Amino acid sequence: MADTAPLVIVGTGLAGYNLAKEFRKLDNQRPMLLVSADDGRFYSKPLLSTGFAKGKEADELAMQDAAAMAAQIGAEVLTGVPVSAIDPAERTLTLGDREQAYSDLVLALGAEVRALPWREQLGERLLSINDLTDYGRFRAALAGRKKVLIIGAGLIGCEFANDLSLGGFEVTVVATDPWLMPQLLPEPVAAAVQRRLEALGVTFHLGCGIRELAASDDALLALLDDGSEVHADQGLSAIGLAPRTDLAAAAGLSVGRGVLVDAQLRSSDPHIYALGDCAEVAGLNLMYVMPLMTSARALAKTLAGTPAAVSYPAMPIMVKTPACPLVVSPPLAGVSGEWQISGEGEDLRAVFIDQTGQLQGFALTGAAVSEKALLTRELPAWLS
Ligand code: FAD
Repeated sequence: MADTAPLVIVGTGLAGYNLAKEFRKLDNQRPMLLVSADDGRFYSKPLLSTGFAKGKEADELAMQDAAAMAAQIGAEVLTGVPVSAIDPAERTLTLGDREQAYSDLVLALGAEVRALPWREQLGERLLSINDLTDYGRFRAALAGRKKVLIIGAGLIGCEFANDLSLGGFEVTVVATDPWLMPQLLPEPVAAAVQRRLEALGVTFHLGCGIRELAASDDALLALLDDGSEVHADQGLSAIGLAPRTDLAAAAGLSVGRGVLVDAQLRSSDPHIYALGDCAEVAGLNLMYVMPLMTSARALAKTLAGTPAAVSYPAMPIMVKTPACPLVVSPPLAGVSGEWQISGEGEDLRAVFIDQTGQLQGFALTGAAVSEKALLTRELPAWLS
């Protein structure tokens, strides 16, 4: 019965839609159903952290609605329908009050924003941005407001600090991180980025937690661990993302940091696959666009009948802090070595070298960004 059922993809982010597009290039016959908890609009998530400088409304960032996408990829697209359970033995999904059969199932569920303890009680005064709806909600909450408190100094917090500053807001960043983007950057490079953001008007409180956060008279007051206070009109929480694994775990699939899949993107169940932010592919959970695009091309082949393993070359990330151009290819988790830093001022070249002398990662700022292509060629593949 299940083999006559459609290929079902859960999630209409970049992972779900790109897989559907790649699959249709190879197979224009097999029925395909995409299911999403959101409204199914197609958009590029990285543009969410450049929208304030450009003055873009959420609707302007949406490239196509669900109906247009359904027509383009020759599939049914069900929106506003969270999948609440998977039954791998019966090959069915629970959608609201009905069951949906699948022949193969792909999880493209993305990642969940980590929540601060004050999230509920502060309502609209403390929001996060992880999709187009969040972005629209945050823009609406900012109406008539000037001072923004960003909590978190990772990649997303720093990008929003730059973007909101360019958009005319007064930005303060508070983070327990000792320096900006500590998972990606050595301290001197982070300091260069920080100086440029400060020159733009951003204020930083780093290495400092928040003891208490309260909304009063329509404003936000943060009491920091060092005793200082930050007054703002609006809060943006950017303390990180966690892959969505609950659905897979409840169905008995193997789960680690993400849904565990092999290099063919196959989970511990032979008819269930995963890609994008929710997936841990052969030990790697890479929450960026390039790995999911590469995964989508490989998985499309497998689903169309030609099993293909994904391989990842090193894929540097252009961090969207135009105040300080920055490109980074972080060493993979568990790779040991040390950073070697050269350059001056805000034009820094940091290379991460292992014990054998092999380049394992880099971070380049300012004029040094021009070395990206050269250094990328020297990096070993992330997954081969
Ligand atoms: P998502 O886009 O999160 O999609 C998940 C989908 O699953 C959604 O449609 C959701 O509704 C659906 N879903 C979830 N649970 C259920 C359920 N139970 N039932 C049904 N549907 C469900 N990466 C880069 O490489 N470069 C960048 O410059 C960059 N900038 C970024 C800026 C921001 C602000 C953010 C937040 C991320 C950025 N990233 C960047 C990361 C990149 O955008 C993500 O890796 C990528 O978009 C993830 O796509 P996805 O399809 O896996 O997840």
